[in-house]
Amino acid sequence: MSTMTPEQIMTQAEKLCLQRGVRLTTQRAEVLRLMAAQHGSISAYDLLDRLRATEPQAKPPTVYRALDFLLEQGFIHRVESNNSYVVCHHFEAPAHTSVMLVCDRCAAVTEKQAQGVEKIIGDLAGEAGFALRHSVIEAHGLCVSCAEVASCTHPENCDHDHEADGKKRGKKG
Ligand SMILES: [Zn+2]
Ligand SMILES: [Zn+2]
Ligand SMILES: [Zn+2]
Repeated sequence: MSTMTPEQIMTQAEKLCLQRGVRLTTQRAEVLRLMAAQHGSISAYDLLDRLRATEPQAKPPTVYRALDFLLEQGFIHRVESNNSYVVCHHFEAPAHTSVMLVCDRCAAVTEKQAQGVEKIIGDLAGEAGFALRHSVIEAHGLCVSCAEVASCTHPENCDHDHEADGKKRGKKG
């Protein structure tokens, strides 16, 4: 799965909205642009903060309405376990189940397509006579760079940002 640049994300989204006959309003486009520029996932409130740089009158419903639209169009995914949102890097593909690899230290989210897992869930639901709508698979841990920092044995003599370790502990408590 290749990732798209923020420019490609915007171009693709505009193209799909045109095809689907839905409107990518300035606000919706701006929210998607902010998310595309973001490394990892972002909460609705952080989005609101950033949106206010260009739209000072933006309110929480402004952001939630834009997020709902982007979710509906499949341009973004909700990361349920930390209540944040992340851009989908293959939204031209039909509705899909992905495994979200969520870094607990820096909140980076890597989306991996989960065809095998998707089939297993579908089969299990079928056996149970359950009408499956959507499923969310999220795995927590440390991303490559955070795992490297976490395993660092010389914090007083390295280029890592060990500050974030303390931040995380404070936030969790
Ligand atoms: Zn996706
Ligand atoms: Zn990380
Ligand atoms: Zn270090």
